[in-house]
Amino acid sequence: MPVRRRTAIFTRTTPPPLPELSNLAAGGTLPGILRQLSGLGGCTNPIRLDGHRTEYDVDTTTGEIGRVLQHLDSSTLPAGQLLVRCNNRRTTRCAACAEVYRRDTFQLITAGLRGGKGTPEHVAAHPRVFATFTAPGFGPVHNRRTDGRPCRCGTHHGQEDEALGTPLDPDTYDYEAAVLWNAHAGPLWRRFSTYVRREVAKRAGLSQRRLRDHARVSFAKVAEYQKRGAVHFHAVIRLDGPGGGETPSPAWATAELLTDAISAAASTVRVEGPTIDGRPHTFAFGRQLDVRTIRSADFNDGQQLTERAVAAYIAKYATKGAETATGALDRPLKFAAELAQLDISDHARRLIRTAWTLGARKDLEHLRLRAWAHMLGFRGHFSTKSRRYSTTLGALRTARAEWRRAQAAAAQSEREPDTTYVLAHWVFAGTGLSDAEAWLAASLEPAPGTEGEPTHG
Ligand SMILES: [Zn+2]
Ligand SMILES: [Zn+2]
Repeated sequence: MPVRRRTAIFTRTTPPPLPELSNLAAGGTLPGILRQLSGLGGCTNPIRLDGHRTEYDVDTTTGEIGRVLQHLDSSTLPAGQLLVRCNNRRTTRCAACAEVYRRDTFQLITAGLRGGKGTPEHVAAHPRVFATFTAPGFGPVHNRRTDGRPCRCGTHHGQEDEALGTPLDPDTYDYEAAVLWNAHAGPLWRRFSTYVRREVAKRAGLSQRRLRDHARVSFAKVAEYQKRGAVHFHAVIRLDGPGGGETPSPAWATAELLTDAISAAASTVRVEGPTIDGRPHTFAFGRQLDVRTIRSADFNDGQQLTERAVAAYIAKYATKGAETATGALDRPLKFAAELAQLDISDHARRLIRTAWTLGARKDLEHLRLRAWAHMLGFRGHFSTKSRRYSTTLGALRTARAEWRRAQAAAAQSEREPDTTYVLAHWVFAGTGLSDAEAWLAASLEPAPGTEGEPTHG
């Protein structure tokens, strides 16, 4: 069994774990550990690996493996193990890795709006909208009204009021439907994406099959939790030519046609759900649908929705789960008994308990509600995109890894990459940092506010 290390979060005012630090200092490993930690880019919950990697020279004419060029054995590393970034997308789990994820998502969305990273620049001229799809109501909740009138409970709730989004009457709130809606939100979106293509075809006077020869609908979407714990979707939807982003959109393709098609598809799409104790469930989007045309920055008068604002918005929500909006959990629940101990809101607790209870039903097995109880039933992907939208997160990661490797290689020699042979074997040895490592890592972190990219539009 791998050893799971506790991740300690230290601030610079935390007293240093002196005995461990002085041991490291006495052993002369302190500078080495600092170097190893700085390679993690601030990741506080790295994956620890035991193993080795050997790089051999290969004779290009005979193909024979020659001398050892490089050998790395984890036991000889200052930390005693190889440390790899956790790459967790959640801010609550690893701020540094979530930040990388957010930047990558920002780039991915931006590439689909302005071009770049392999997507042609003319995508900026394709009809594009930013649409928000909400969940239906499951019972009245405390809210802030835009007309200045008080909430139905008679209170003017402040922006930070924890009551916001929670039911006026928890006993009549439809928790069952709320959880099941989240569990069906993914399938509902998938069906919507088929419907929207059909609606576009109809408006272009084409059959659904023939639409493919003229246009494609591409999208990138992100799931966000509303305060009440219902998932909703924000999506960039783009109307491209027959080859996706690579090809100019047809002359008939306008943002108005796209908006109209989206509205028609969103209002008619339905997914049949289970029948629970004689009550049949059917799922649809809520009536609040917001579709706005995305303008290029050039045409922005400060009022309209810009590419940058859209990308920043989607990227921000890509790093959040149910925990940030509803105060739920950022990891799966193992036992129902844990629920009582947790410092979460009553509303979140009730949603999680409902998911847990429904999760025991044989007929709902396929929804895996216990495994996804911490996500309030939603088991879909947080951010997804159609294949032709723009580059992928994988491609961005590969590009970054290649760049790092190239830098390292340039520092070493001018070796051809295909003239080496690599033999490696790694085993998972745990996660996290020791107290001393965590303290040292915290001392390496840049001061807050020195980040380059904006978090808002
Ligand atoms: Zn991390
Ligand atoms: Zn209220």
